[in-house]
Amino acid sequence: MKYYSTNRLTPLVDFKEATIAGLAPDKGLFFPDTIPAVDRSLINGLRCVSNSEIALNVLKPYVGDTIPEGDFQRIVTDTVNFDIPLVSINHKISSLELFHGPTFAFKDLGARFMSRCMGYFAQEVSKKMTVLVATSGDTGGAVANGFYDVPGVEVVILYPSKKVSDLQEKQLTTLGKNIHALEVNGSFDDCQRMVKEAFADNQLRDKLFLTSANSINVARWIPQQLFYFFGYKQWPSEKGLPIVAVPSGNFGNLTAGILARLSGLPFFKFIVACNANKSVVEYLRTGTYTPTATIPTISNAMDVGNPSNFVRLTELYGRNYAAITHSMKGYTIDDIDTQYIMEDVQKRHGYQLDPHGAVAYCALERYLKHHPNRYGYLLETAHPVKFDESLQQSSTLSPELQHKIADLQNGKKQSVIIDPDYSQLKDFLMR
Ligand SMILES: *Cc1c(COP(=O)(O)O)cnc(C)c1O
Repeated sequence: MKYYSTNRLTPLVDFKEATIAGLAPDKGLFFPDTIPAVDRSLINGLRCVSNSEIALNVLKPYVGDTIPEGDFQRIVTDTVNFDIPLVSINHKISSLELFHGPTFAFKDLGARFMSRCMGYFAQEVSKKMTVLVATSGDTGGAVANGFYDVPGVEVVILYPSKKVSDLQEKQLTTLGKNIHALEVNGSFDDCQRMVKEAFADNQLRDKLFLTSANSINVARWIPQQLFYFFGYKQWPSEKGLPIVAVPSGNFGNLTAGILARLSGLPFFKFIVACNANKSVVEYLRTGTYTPTATIPTISNAMDVGNPSNFVRLTELYGRNYAAITHSMKGYTIDDIDTQYIMEDVQKRHGYQLDPHGAVAYCALERYLKHHPNRYGYLLETAHPVKFDESLQQSSTLSPELQHKIADLQNGKKQSVIIDPDYSQLKDFLMR
């Protein structure tokens, strides 16, 4: 399989080239030139197939011969080595829990796959490979954990000082070894601007092999379609085709679901669940896409006014608006309803949602109200303890999770404090 750039000014590349480049040279996003069909017999027999076997079958065509069979098998098995259970909340709605990975967020799966592929390719690159990433919270932790101890790759993470949660900061700063945390006296936007300046700095790029680890990278985007295969594997067939609600920010997760659908996985509909940052919901309603400034909300990992994967959404359906709106329905949920749903679902069903999952629950519930014969599940993208520190003492946490949290809290924070000034980042990288 080859990848083209959505701006169409870059020659076709293979998986290796697309992964180590991140963004295409013409600033477009890489996109597979054909979407492979998954074997019908695999889909029909999904229940009896292990997650690593599913992953191997689904992902193999995307990687082609850029990674030899044995290495690829090892990467895939390592990527999916945690539980992804479908848990029933009530008789209409279930939750696909994507948070049982090392940093309690769904980004673990994509980050694990990408870091291992990148580690494999780093052996073939002569310069030292440096992954540079700005984070507002979840991405940094998943990337740090994914790349920890991967030979030949250094990771530099910029995060805004005092603007990430304690647990998130620990996930960024306590690993050490090849993971370097830069604590910036500024905002997330400052961090992002400095990273962009580094990518545009030729003197720096002469010395280092610089690459990014955000969700535009195909190696992070493509494996996320596995969630939907694992969801379908556990879905009770007597409930008919599922309605799947996806809490969305940059739209990597949702567009990966569409990839699964176009590969042959059955769905009834996608529910696009957004907070007040609703540019895609408005697009679905009106046909006009207007990026907006970011609005802060309590589901902050979804605070994105101009989602980077929007172009992939339209690309997947050949830029056909009617086809896009046929397969999904969008909802925007405000903070008041999100908060209410978290409390109400806990009270009535004894299930603790996190704010991102609550947005999806609320959107799904609204859809099901008008479609009483349908059933659905939401993607629960993070564990609630990540966003509510009072839950860390909760006696309902599994001993395994209590142990993981205690380990993090006891870890020693190691960060280098810098000002929001590019020259300080450059000095660090050139050291
Ligand atoms: C990143 C993130 C999202 C949004 O996912 P996208 O793929 O960017 O749409 C939702 N929930 C949580 C907890 C996240 O960390």
